Amino acid sequence: MALTNLQVRDLETVLHPYTNQATIRDTGTLVLERAKGIHVYDVDGKPYIEGMAGLWCTSLGYGNEELADAAYAQMKKLSFTHLFGGKSHDPAIELAERLKEKAPVPISKVFFVCSGSEANDSQIKMIWYMNNAMGRPQKKKIVSRIKGYHGVTIASASLTGLPANHTDFDLPISGILHTSCPHHYRFGLEGESEEDFATRCAQDLEDLILREGPDTVAAFIAEPVMGAGGVIVPPKGYFEKMMAVCQRYDVFMIADEVICAFGRLGEWFGSSALGYKPNSISIAKALTSAYMPVGAILIPEEMYQATIVESKKVGTFGHGFTYSGHPVGAAVALKTLEIYDREKIIEKAAAKSPQFQAHLKALGDHPLVGEARGLGMMGALEMVADKRTKKAFEPKAGIGAKAVAIAQEEGVILRNLGDALALCPPLIISPEEIDDLFDRVARTLDRVLDHAKAEGLL
Ligand code: PMP
Repeated sequence: MALTNLQVRDLETVLHPYTNQATIRDTGTLVLERAKGIHVYDVDGKPYIEGMAGLWCTSLGYGNEELADAAYAQMKKLSFTHLFGGKSHDPAIELAERLKEKAPVPISKVFFVCSGSEANDSQIKMIWYMNNAMGRPQKKKIVSRIKGYHGVTIASASLTGLPANHTDFDLPISGILHTSCPHHYRFGLEGESEEDFATRCAQDLEDLILREGPDTVAAFIAEPVMGAGGVIVPPKGYFEKMMAVCQRYDVFMIADEVICAFGRLGEWFGSSALGYKPNSISIAKALTSAYMPVGAILIPEEMYQATIVESKKVGTFGHGFTYSGHPVGAAVALKTLEIYDREKIIEKAAAKSPQFQAHLKALGDHPLVGEARGLGMMGALEMVADKRTKKAFEPKAGIGAKAVAIAQEEGVILRNLGDALALCPPLIISPEEIDDLFDRVARTLDRVLDHAKAEGLL
């Protein structure tokens, strides 16, 4: 199909993040214009269910007037002041108070950022800084996991355990190590129980720490449920076992809750849903339901004390962004948290999860689906060439991208993580809309199956 004028102008001017730059020149982009509730509309007025809540973030959906009003009111009152060098403002103070109240573990302070990548970058810097202040400058290595996703800045992309984020970017940087991915379907051994697999993952972590030297390993970072790596729910008992290893070697635990916090797994924090007690936490995305770019790290007392110790020695704590705690972002985040509380969004998400998961699991019977997995209001359908042997499609067959294109024709926006189709709708989705979403996904799978047969891919 010929590209529209807008699509041509787009391709001539915008370098699209996370995009196959070669194929997009033929397909063009989907240009969206407006949105309401769980639907986004393209420039021709066609509606789509936003099956991915944007990028796992628009939990309250679109067109929320209260959030828009909160931003407008704050812009008129005090559009900007920063938090550097002794300045502060009411929305940042109040937001930090709310986050401390909500946090699942004892938190001393909140450090504001604008994105998930900045949050995790700040985590690494804070760990290094803390261990310097504590007189153990050799304890600096950070362990993340294969297929973990933590962002794309130089340090965060190093934590990320996906080849596309490393290849050609000269990453990871030194001192960042990757341990095994807790995906039983792909990495469990023949006949290995989930429990035994979890034990083996913890043993892998322990072996890595011992190989490197426990006095050189500072922290372990993990998403409660891996998002961009394929919506991977760890096996039962996994975090308990990983925590025991970390505690044994005095390794700090960081929960990357950029996707999971604020109800995605049916609780305020995903780590609570999975029995994981981190020392510090990264948040972003649903903190403002993506109405403003705001993130934060929630840090414990010992990390805060380090900033006092070092400030006495060297003066200023030299970290912070111009927009750390931006007042408009903070006002919108506060209103978002108020709505989560008042409308019982998290409790309602927990109540809708069984319906969502039942639909997902039912699609596990589809001939194309090797594994249907998920937790709470997120999930993935991993498409395979052979259900029995779990054989994957050849990457060049582009099955994942094809499925996303067909889903778009069916009026639903999904995202492919390799050949896994991810689902993560706004939490405000109604039960009827959940049924509608899965009808469309089922039709999509049928059409992808026809395509795979026609192309001789099965
Ligand atoms: N951590 C996790 C778990 C994420 O899912 C993401 C984004 N998908 C990030 C960090 C990075 O966030 P951002 O894109 O806002 O930098």
